[in-house]
Amino acid sequence: MNYEKIKASLAPCGLSCEKCFANVDGDIRRYSLKLKENLGNFQPYAQRYETLLGEPAFKKFPDFMGMLDYFALENCHGCRNEQCKLFRNCGVRPCHQEKGVDFCYKCDEFPCTKTHFDENLYKAWVRINGIIKAKGIEQYYEMTLTRPRYI
Ligand code: SF4
Ligand code: SF4
Repeated sequence: MNYEKIKASLAPCGLSCEKCFANVDGDIRRYSLKLKENLGNFQPYAQRYETLLGEPAFKKFPDFMGMLDYFALENCHGCRNEQCKLFRNCGVRPCHQEKGVDFCYKCDEFPCTKTHFDENLYKAWVRINGIIKAKGIEQYYEMTLTRPRYI
């Protein structure tokens, strides 16, 4: 496995930028665009099917489209290229650059108090980097390819 490809996919914290909903080249954005394209002008049909089928789920179509529009618009180029659009206060990006380490698991200070993550993300960060240390970055990367990012 190409280490540079792994680095392009995974942020220094270990989370997958490639699978993030905000990633411009990610599957979530790609499939959202495709679904929007396939739905076309479905709104009047949603109203018709609500009546025709007596199905209340069609009432929620505008909300569904709102979420789909949001996913389709996202445009982050990943943590290695720009400031994270979701965790704007992330301390890992500037820190790993200053320290010159590709990933936190390689850092002699891990686990540190510089991330600025909330409790959930901090726990995930510790767990992820523990897995990388135990299995190696290549095996961890393979795992990220077959699992959803949001579990
Ligand atoms: S940098 Fe942040 S917003 Fe951008 S793809 Fe990575 S996790 Fe998502
Ligand atoms: S000091 Fe902390 S945030 Fe910075 S690279 Fe090391 S483990 Fe990551």
